[in-house]
Amino acid sequence: MRPQILIIGCGFGGLEAARAFSGSRGADVDITVVDKTNHHLFQPLLYQVATAGLSAPSIAAPIRHLFRRQPNVTTLLGEVVAIDAQARTATLKDGALLRWDHLIVAAGATHSYFGRDDWAPYAPGLKTLDDAFEIRRRVLMAFEAAELEDDAAKRAALLQFVVVGGGPTGVELAGTFAEIARHTLPGEFRRIDPRQARILLVEGGPRVLAAMPEALSERAREQLSALGVDVRLGARVTGIDADGLDVTTAAGAERLHSRCVVWAAGVAASPLGRALAEATGCTLDRAGRVVVEPDLSLPGHPRIQVIGDLAAAQSHKPGHPPRPVPGVSPGAKQMGRCAAANIRRQLRGEATQAFRYADYGNLATIGRNSAVVDLGSPAGPLRFSGYFAWLFWLFAHVYFLIGYRNRFVVLLDWAWAYWTYDRGARVVANAALPALSEASPASASRPAPRPPAG
Ligand SMILES: Cc1cc2nc3c(=O)[nH]c(=O)nc-3n(C[C@H](O)[C@H](O)[C@H](O)COP(=O)(O)OP(=O)(O)OC[C@H]3O[C@@H](n4cnc5c(N)ncnc54)[C@H](O)[C@@H]3O)c2cc1C
Repeated sequence: MRPQILIIGCGFGGLEAARAFSGSRGADVDITVVDKTNHHLFQPLLYQVATAGLSAPSIAAPIRHLFRRQPNVTTLLGEVVAIDAQARTATLKDGALLRWDHLIVAAGATHSYFGRDDWAPYAPGLKTLDDAFEIRRRVLMAFEAAELEDDAAKRAALLQFVVVGGGPTGVELAGTFAEIARHTLPGEFRRIDPRQARILLVEGGPRVLAAMPEALSERAREQLSALGVDVRLGARVTGIDADGLDVTTAAGAERLHSRCVVWAAGVAASPLGRALAEATGCTLDRAGRVVVEPDLSLPGHPRIQVIGDLAAAQSHKPGHPPRPVPGVSPGAKQMGRCAAANIRRQLRGEATQAFRYADYGNLATIGRNSAVVDLGSPAGPLRFSGYFAWLFWLFAHVYFLIGYRNRFVVLLDWAWAYWTYDRGARVVANAALPALSEASPASASRPAPRPPAG
């Protein structure tokens, strides 16, 4: 029997781990990749789908297709719900059992509403294609509902968009919402002026992009303001409902009316972390991530490795103190390669090696022509912002996209959008207008449409 390697999750970590067993490096093992979706998703560009800039197939690829030339890989569609470390099995939601000799768990992360899951229906997060479609629908339908609305206060609430969380995703979303309102939609509506839309970015901390150096955070805030985004720092969300949200700042409490709130504030590890803890007694950190050994294995379970966003891993560079690995795609990919290499070492009877993270820096885009870049280089940190940072961000993302076709399509779409300000993915299947709740000051039945102006 050839050793059976099971990889749970085909995101950045799982895909890289499976690819590390291609060719002669995988000649003597069988790999099974199981994922609850049928596609690998390039999450860094998910906000582009949520903001109608790109269509889904441009940033996602069928997993089965990705492994068509790797005969030692079997792809399965299924959600793993339990793991048995003694029997060496994983159980799918439908009860099917998958056997393994070595297990790589790469199930990623999900949203965290900090214990307030009741906010989720009013403020979707952005993690999957379904999330992106829902956000896109809400944004576009808010403009449609505003066009039908006579009452000025209700119209203002419909045209107020709030993004909660000033990390890279929140900044990207807020900047792009502003562009849609200022550049894409004007001229297409007859009763409203989309430029009157207000975009708010609500951040609990003292600055946006907290993982970046302070000067770049400030550049990002300035660039957001230049795009017309109202950035509220030190604003803590205390409630979200169908009509908007409550925030508390040093100045006091405030109610923000909005029909379209997006949550980009918290990340929690996949629930599979808890299943692993129950199966193996491993420790989880506060975000539910699995605390792993230096070689990414579980304490007392050298055949199980946890990688990517699900792992609370440390980088072990000789001569340096251990450093936490950030939850970013290069971290997941590097862990995927390390886990595969360690399994090969185990199969040869050699000792495993500790994970070392190579940190290439941080990028974030704010909108057209604006981004911030913080790169490590042998000569010290290289930091810049503005147009060249945006170009750098653009080509880096196209380069890392999976598939030549996707790279070509994305470049073409962006070039078109750059010259025309158009956003080509605005067709929505479910065109339900935002419902007005009874409690809302904007809850009276929708009046008959006004006749066109002029
Ligand atoms: C909106 C957004 C923007 C981002 N932008 C950037 C960026 O610009 N740069 C950057 O470096 N990083 C970015 N990240 C972070 C980056 O995407 C993650 O760090 C990376 O995806 C982690 O890889 P992973 O393999 O651990 O998990 P993922 O890529 O999330 O993959 C997890 C996979 O596991 C599958 N899965 C989950 N649970 C199960 C289960 N029980 N059974 C079977 N399959 C399961 C999922 O379907 C998924 O395919 C962004 C993340 C998001 C959400």
